Amino acid sequence: MTTPTHLISDLAVFIIFINIPNVLPNYTDLTSLVGSNLIDLDHLLSKPIYHPKRNPFKTHFFHKQWITITILSILSVFFRPTMFLGIGLLLHLFLDYIYIVREKV
Ligand SMILES: [Zn+2]
Repeated sequence: MTTPTHLISDLAVFIIFINIPNVLPNYTDLTSLVGSNLIDLDHLLSKPIYHPKRNPFKTHFFHKQWITITILSILSVFFRPTMFLGIGLLLHLFLDYIYIVREKV
């Protein structure tokens, strides 16, 4: 999935959480949510850096660890300071999964 899609979906999720009165997200949470996309820095370790028909879960270092990242993200959702980092990572992996299913890579 492309970076703008990740950022737009992160902002959409943040706007949804703004409207939930018990959560009350702040700018640190927004930074965590957007910063979770830094998982894509592992693209820099592969050649070419971007290839549209490449499965990120098979080639990129961090994405290969998706099971570990998913477990840690689910655990961090229940701990308030890291809640939005976990949500962002889960959303990122989910969007990447949708991409590989849709593109059949
Ligand atoms: Zn990714």
